[in-house]
Amino acid sequence: MPLIPMRVMLDHAAENDYGVGAFNVNNMEQIQAIMMAATETNSPVIVQASRGARSYSNDNYLRHLMLAAAELNPNIPIAMHQDHGNSPETCFSAIDQGFTSVMMDGSLQADGKTPSSYEYNVDVTKQVVAKAHAIGVTVEAEIGCLGGIDDGHGAGLSEDEAAEHLTDPDEAERFVKDTGCDALAVAIGTSHGAYKFTQKPTGDVLKMSLIEEIHRRLPNTHLVMHGSSSVPRELLDIINQYGGQMKESYGVPVEAIQQGIKHGVRKINVDTDNRLAITGAIRKVFAEQPEKFDPRDYLKPARIAMAEVVKARMIAFGQAGWADKVPVVSLEEMARKY
Ligand SMILES: [Zn+2]
Repeated sequence: MPLIPMRVMLDHAAENDYGVGAFNVNNMEQIQAIMMAATETNSPVIVQASRGARSYSNDNYLRHLMLAAAELNPNIPIAMHQDHGNSPETCFSAIDQGFTSVMMDGSLQADGKTPSSYEYNVDVTKQVVAKAHAIGVTVEAEIGCLGGIDDGHGAGLSEDEAAEHLTDPDEAERFVKDTGCDALAVAIGTSHGAYKFTQKPTGDVLKMSLIEEIHRRLPNTHLVMHGSSSVPRELLDIINQYGGQMKESYGVPVEAIQQGIKHGVRKINVDTDNRLAITGAIRKVFAEQPEKFDPRDYLKPARIAMAEVVKARMIAFGQAGWADKVPVVSLEEMARKY
């Protein structure tokens, strides 16, 4: 199956009340892990690459790996998404590389660090929407700022500071009208990276109520939860058991995400949990079988460990079982619909 526009998948998810995990990749094993999980669970899937991932893996490698994933998995709808584009140029270069969806994150300036003005955000997002929709590519935008910093991207806000940059529902409503974006990333207290909350999040720090309010005002906009790894204790324990030094940390409980899915959340970004799974699996091999030196000896278990996490999320988010029911719509057809 060719890569499809993300909008098609999110529309289908909205019609059928499920969410779709968007998993970050920067190498072959991660892409394979996601496709293994998608095949086993019959799930449509969003594969995403940040700017950092694109430069690490090189666009050409990434493009061909994604084409291979599509070729080898003809029954799985796949959307290829640019995570946190920092400028229209980054989004346009992703589109040139065959991405079927882009995020224009104008909540931060082009440095990817400094919170921007509302006007700046509208301006850059509109530029991307105009070009992307003309060729059927989906656009995700962001209003409000998330905590943390990852891949060099983010304002580096602490848990407390992030609480001051939550999405304002009024502004969200105005922003979608002003830009015409397909999906909207909202700041509800989550952060990028492994250290999201210092204790199990309550409704005071993880504002799921905000999602409900935004969804009430924007029932036709697909909401996106960023920084939504759950940071399971078991994964931290495996790493630490085999010589790692992960600090105590709490992520976004899967039940909170499921609550969000009931209120318009259609895309859920997960990266950290997969990183933890990979690292734990590799450390285990190194610790238990120090004589091993063939990369396959540790990359294979790493790939399986990541596939297990992805599979669990696909089932939890409700996307499992839907792959063969998502309509196959080409970018050209999508362009005509806008
Ligand atoms: Zn993000």
